[in-house]
Amino acid sequence: MTRSEKPAEINLVFDEPVLRKKSPKHLADFSPEDRRAFAQEQGLPGYRANQVANHYFTHFASEPDTWTDIPAAERLKMAELLTPRLIELVRSVTCDDGMTRKDLWKLHDGVLVETVLMRYADRTTVCISSQAGCGMDCPFCATGQAGLTRNLTAGEITAQIVASARSCALGEMPGGPTRLSNIVFMGMGEPMANYNAVMRALRNITDANPNGLGISARSVTVSTVGLVNGIEKLTQEGLPVTLAVSLHTPDDELRDSLVPINSRWKVKEVFAAADAYAEKTGRRYSIEYALIRDINDQTWRADLLGLLLKNRNAHVNLIPLNPTPGSKWTASRQEDEKEFVRILETYGVATTVRDTRGREIDGACGQLAASEQISS
Ligand code: SAH
Repeated sequence: MTRSEKPAEINLVFDEPVLRKKSPKHLADFSPEDRRAFAQEQGLPGYRANQVANHYFTHFASEPDTWTDIPAAERLKMAELLTPRLIELVRSVTCDDGMTRKDLWKLHDGVLVETVLMRYADRTTVCISSQAGCGMDCPFCATGQAGLTRNLTAGEITAQIVASARSCALGEMPGGPTRLSNIVFMGMGEPMANYNAVMRALRNITDANPNGLGISARSVTVSTVGLVNGIEKLTQEGLPVTLAVSLHTPDDELRDSLVPINSRWKVKEVFAAADAYAEKTGRRYSIEYALIRDINDQTWRADLLGLLLKNRNAHVNLIPLNPTPGSKWTASRQEDEKEFVRILETYGVATTVRDTRGREIDGACGQLAASEQISS
């Protein structure tokens, strides 16, 4: 089916796309309770799962020859059975004097995904992928334009984080060893369209050592185009991660084309779900808004957004549009961006303009396309 024949109603939510060879099972695919059974299925005593999980989450899958609580002769086999390698580094590119690094990973079936690691003065953040490609078809996003290849497993999502945490611990970023402090689900894919795997990965991030990485839910952001059924499910999880909603315009008319899933869930419904999330978790949510010249940056849209947000527990994150191949759109003029911020502030809406990292290496918002070709 060609792009133009695509049905108006996008029907990918919670569906598992094309059947293909399954990714190897990994202990990060399971809850701590189920890991025992997984080890037993592999012919190992159940308690080995806890030991290996400890190495994986506490020491970031460090070399099995350091696993002194496991007999030396069994370490390698144990590692292969419980923590098989799920992602293999193809290439890293850096900018900002090495403080931003984009990693390209190959999965077991040759599928490619990207992560972006960013070190700041006070924190280190990794932006990870939840799907290979994306089915949401937002016209200004390179990932969306490439379409969906497949969902990632919980193990594959978690592996990106563990690899990044390891890089930080080993001092691979300039400035010496550090701790991976923040995780944003803002790389390739729509996290809510791969809900179960994302949820498992979120538990792996937030569960205390040795069951997980022990990173607080507050330091994790899940960004969505506004899949209301996913937001509603997340509200019930009792896991107060930061929710980010990619709104991009406050009116349905334009949003229907900028974020095509809007034909299914309208702006009003997205706000209602995000408000319920904020109410339940006590967490302020963010509204992501890529400023596109003469498309969504008019003063009347700033006014409408200000009106919609003035009594809500939300803040606005404006993103100057990053260039993507074949896109006819560009970032807003400086003066229009300034005016947009000024108007929002008159409504008392907290507003920040995102300092987009990694534009030079096609690693900024909306630029992840995971190609093996080296971009010029
Ligand atoms: N699918 C989820 C997660 C991706 S997050 C979501 O859309 O929320 C990536 C963020 O970057 C989203 O807010 C997305 O809309 C935004 N984005 C996409 N393309 C962009 C571009 N060219 N310039 C700036 N932001 C972009």
